[in-house]
Amino acid sequence: MYFGPSGYPAEAAGKVEEVFAILRRLELNALEYAAVYGLRVNVEGAKKIGELSRDAGVLMSMHAAYYISLASKDPNVRQRSKERLLQALKMAPLMGVKRIVFHPGSYGGLTPDEAYATVLNALSEVWEEANTDPQVVLLSPETSGKTNTFGSVEEIVRLCQDLEGCIPTIDWAHLYARSQGKVNDRESYRHILQVFEDALGDKFLKNMHFHISGITFGKAGEQAHRPLGKEWGPEVQPLIELILDNGYNPTFISETPDQLSGALFMRHITELVKARR
Ligand SMILES: [Zn+2]
Repeated sequence: MYFGPSGYPAEAAGKVEEVFAILRRLELNALEYAAVYGLRVNVEGAKKIGELSRDAGVLMSMHAAYYISLASKDPNVRQRSKERLLQALKMAPLMGVKRIVFHPGSYGGLTPDEAYATVLNALSEVWEEANTDPQVVLLSPETSGKTNTFGSVEEIVRLCQDLEGCIPTIDWAHLYARSQGKVNDRESYRHILQVFEDALGDKFLKNMHFHISGITFGKAGEQAHRPLGKEWGPEVQPLIELILDNGYNPTFISETPDQLSGALFMRHITELVKARR
């Protein structure tokens, strides 16, 4: 299994060598590069990240910009959103990034069916234009935490069925928030993993990628990310137990406010559960 933070650890103070030195010291083996305010890396910088991650044995993913909105009514916004994904697809291979995680955006005032068609169309265009080798890098739409945002389990599954270039990212905190706290036990975790597995088979099983954190929610879903192991859900131990029982091999990316401690917490719980067997 893989564990790592989303974004560079604050301790690294923006020094890329230090990022991978910290991960090595803590024996963390994954990193989600945060391009959430736009991808600000040049070719040279991207190659450096690629080299350092290979040397450190760190599995790389990337979180693309937050302000992607593929179902927007505004064609300029749709166009800019597509360009952000295209740029990410271009840089990813240099950085050793295997998946580009992103939020498709809000429903943009469309019905869910219309939004689905619009998002699918935009992503097909991106994938076609990028002409990327799916063995190298894939697009990875994420389950969303807000009820007015594209990204239910069903929508993400369907996108990944309809598009060769898409694999899912499951954000368990988002599903917990979106379901008003219902997705919080072994049975609901099992059901969701089964839905993905039945629809996508190996495409899912060989590429399991999870986001995890504590979270607060209101009627509309997600409010704020919180630490793990404190008073906030979702419960992670039943998820870990299920994963170990089924022999799954996922990557856990921590999106807790202090991302490193969340990644270490997940690894620690996994070791505890293993040791008790
Ligand atoms: Zn997430």
